Amino acid sequence: MPQLKLAKLKGKAEIFYTLQGEGVNTGMPAIFIRSSLCNLHCSWCDTDYTWNWVNTPWRHENESLEGYQKFEKKDYIIKLSSEEIAAEVLQHSCRNVILTGGEPLLQQEAWVGLMAELRRHDPSFRFEVETNGTIIPNDKFRQYIDQFNVSPKLNNSGNPLRSRLKKDALNYFRDCPNSWFKFVVMDEMDLHELESIIDTFSIPAHKVILMPEGRTRRALNQRRTKIADICKKEGYRFGDRLHIRLWGSKPGV
Ligand code: SF4
Repeated sequence: MPQLKLAKLKGKAEIFYTLQGEGVNTGMPAIFIRSSLCNLHCSWCDTDYTWNWVNTPWRHENESLEGYQKFEKKDYIIKLSSEEIAAEVLQHSCRNVILTGGEPLLQQEAWVGLMAELRRHDPSFRFEVETNGTIIPNDKFRQYIDQFNVSPKLNNSGNPLRSRLKKDALNYFRDCPNSWFKFVVMDEMDLHELESIIDTFSIPAHKVILMPEGRTRRALNQRRTKIADICKKEGYRFGDRLHIRLWGSKPGV
């Protein structure tokens, strides 16, 4: 089995125990494992240390901030075997694991090795994936997954349409019984755009979760009433961002 390329922060793989902050399982204790690498390059991404490498042309909004520098790939990736990651996960009693990134589906084979290893220790391990919805999971990978949290990216991400909306992948997740679609909404334009995506791909309303955009409690509060109204009207689910409410915009919490 290949080793997993995980995000490395402060010299360590980004594996942490916290509460799920978004989606239908908000509030559920979970161990997050963050893989490095992404096939998209969202201008507002808060895990840009998984893809915005030195000597790449990608743009990030933080580049306008003084002192922002692209990341040295070798300093922000750590390769670990399934056994090494499992040993860390097993230090916790929690059996709910979230595969996140970057884009986790870029490393399906390596994740399968880890999930098999964890289920060998305890068959009750449960796995959720946070994905941008552009890559179809293979048969082996999907066997292990209890829930897909799909977050298609909108125009405001800065990615070209052909990269961020992949018809076959979105159709797959639409038909998958254990998938949910999360959309982060900043303004009216986002609402029009996501409604067009929902229509185009016939995504059932009951699978849709709308969340206010915001990296502070204040920003979340400013947008939540309007989004709640749309959810009531369209039959979508309203989602908050618990981790921002509890801890603000910080990695590893
Ligand atoms: S898809 Fe996710 S990880 Fe990738 S650039 Fe966009 S926000 Fe960041």
